[in-house]
Amino acid sequence: LDSHRRSGTAKLLALLRDNGPLPMAELGDHLSMSRSQVGQRVVAMEGQGLVTRGGRAPSRGGRPSSIVALSPDLHYLGVDIGATSIAVAITNGYLDVVEFAEEEADVRNGPELILGRAMQLAGKLTAEHPGVRPIGIGIGVPGPVSFRDGHPVAPPLMPGWDAYPVRDVLFQRLGIPVTVDNDVNIMALGEMQKGVANGASNFLFVKVGTGIGCGIVVRGAIHRGANGCAGDIGHIRVGNSTTLCHCGRAGCLEADFGGEALAREAMAAARSGASPLLAEWLRQNGTLSAADVGRASAAGDRTCNGLIRNGGQLVGQVLAGLVNFFNPSMVIVGGGLANLGHLLLAEIRSVTINRSTPLATSELSIVVSELGNQAGVVGAALMASDRFLSQADVAGDGPRTAGSI
Ligand SMILES: [Zn+2]
Repeated sequence: LDSHRRSGTAKLLALLRDNGPLPMAELGDHLSMSRSQVGQRVVAMEGQGLVTRGGRAPSRGGRPSSIVALSPDLHYLGVDIGATSIAVAITNGYLDVVEFAEEEADVRNGPELILGRAMQLAGKLTAEHPGVRPIGIGIGVPGPVSFRDGHPVAPPLMPGWDAYPVRDVLFQRLGIPVTVDNDVNIMALGEMQKGVANGASNFLFVKVGTGIGCGIVVRGAIHRGANGCAGDIGHIRVGNSTTLCHCGRAGCLEADFGGEALAREAMAAARSGASPLLAEWLRQNGTLSAADVGRASAAGDRTCNGLIRNGGQLVGQVLAGLVNFFNPSMVIVGGGLANLGHLLLAEIRSVTINRSTPLATSELSIVVSELGNQAGVVGAALMASDRFLSQADVAGDGPRTAGSI
């Protein structure tokens, strides 16, 4: 939301959300309002249950100024559905995570089951805090989303979800505003609000999970593109690979690297005997995952080191193109495979920097996500909060809260 389009109430709420509690006098400075104007506004907002006044800030020569804080009753629900996981958080009005739960899940089980499970998790979290009633929910799903319509659009990893009305179904269930976006976009938002990209306004968030996607932040806002699929970099062709991708084409980045590809290559390396360690784990457990490649690599397995280095090179080649094109100040690498270890990031860094123009990389930092598995839920809560602020002046009686979840 552009700050200049916000109403006075919304601006004041955003100031508190992004800076923490502030003295009344300072709010007036930020909003170019007189002390009495701010005072009237704050009293009205206190009546709506949006803010509280308490404490005294040191005097700046005049009367001491009381501190304005967001109401402790403001909460948001953030949900991050990945291809293989569900994460849910309750945040306070400042978007600090108050409660968090995560569990494994297969998004291919379809929207009824997955959303039902997400709401069960949310219900459990709110039950631990009686009185917590979220005023908005943000949710991310692992595929292209029509942000306007609140549903996925032909998501390749999510059979059964195409055009499923996620927003409307959750709204009917909870009775509070619902905002739906792509999972990578919410992770980028989370890092911007609370993580390593705080203060950055042009950056990329690359998620390397089961698939690979990229959140694009331009002047502090998500760039979604004409159809909502901007940043779908997993299907950029890289190298001369002929590996068939689930999108139907061959040679996509995601077909050769990512959780799915790495698990497949781990199985091949175990069966061919290229990695005796993986062969032993396969005998013990009956299957292998991308995480096993990370563990074997940490144990010094040369084949697994090679798989991770190759993957880093493929990602780096795509990133170099993006860096030359977009000139970000920062590239954040997140998602499950960001935990594969130092080797992956080192390879991504060296290829990206060697293949980009010196000017584009002179101030570029390539870093690992700071919020990790909470980046998505924080970004989802931020979306919910932005949505709430955009209607803050309409809610004359104060925010509508969720019934029991
Ligand atoms: Zn593809």
